[in-house]
Amino acid sequence: MVYFIGAGPGDPELITVKGKRLIEEADVIVYTGSLVNPALFSEIKKDAAVYNSASMTLKEVMEVIGQAVKDGKKAVRVHTGDPSLYGAVREQMEELNRLGIDYEVVPGVSSFLAAAASLGREYTLPGVSQTVILTRMEGRTPVPEKEQIEALAAHQATMVIFLSVGQIEELCSRLMEGGYGAGTPAAVVYKASWPEEKIVQGTLGDLAKRVKKAGIRKTALVTVGEFLGDAFALSRLYDENFSHEYRVGKCED
Ligand code: SAH
Repeated sequence: MVYFIGAGPGDPELITVKGKRLIEEADVIVYTGSLVNPALFSEIKKDAAVYNSASMTLKEVMEVIGQAVKDGKKAVRVHTGDPSLYGAVREQMEELNRLGIDYEVVPGVSSFLAAAASLGREYTLPGVSQTVILTRMEGRTPVPEKEQIEALAAHQATMVIFLSVGQIEELCSRLMEGGYGAGTPAAVVYKASWPEEKIVQGTLGDLAKRVKKAGIRKTALVTVGEFLGDAFALSRLYDENFSHEYRVGKCED
């Protein structure tokens, strides 16, 4: 059995109990480069083999894992945040299927969740937005035509944009072309949950300038939408006049 483990956004305490246990029991650990905090490996087996996959090809990763399984060893593949987002995990799963090796995924705290925590904001505010769009802008890797930034921006939902802070100027202008006004609040969270975390707040009109000034070029999320503002309706969940399964309010509806 091979485990794909979400390592969380950076803070070594933001991994699941299960993920931590599996890392500590592992004989072979393959982790994704610079974004996985090495502090997560402070209590691993003394003779555990640890590989940084940053300089490895898919074939090499699969060889290391395949050999470990053949030798009856415990292998873990550690991904940053949650493996299901920009983790290139599916191609590894398919390869394991082909090799007849069983695997399980242990989810992690994605960086977009750590970013909301650091911002002290809720992505889904009543009367503001009930939808979160997680996306990235095309760079060296393309994005399907139907998911171009302008098209997604037309919804004016909450947006969290991965892997794109390096093109912040183009990103902000395309978001505005798509429908958000220049005054829409926007924030960049760099290295959410790490000691060196930085938050840059602004509007779509001035964010690029602020981000450049802060010297942020990678490992950051761009968040956009009125969820960053102060106007919203109160949630009906805690409204005294609103009943639900667990609480009967004054007026039934
Ligand atoms: N699977 C990861 C995402 C991997 S793609 C997850 O669930 O978070 C790598 C991109 O994720 C980075 O370029 C950056 O946009 C974002 N990212 C990862 N960790 C981050 C962090 N701690 N703070 C801000 N952005 C982060």
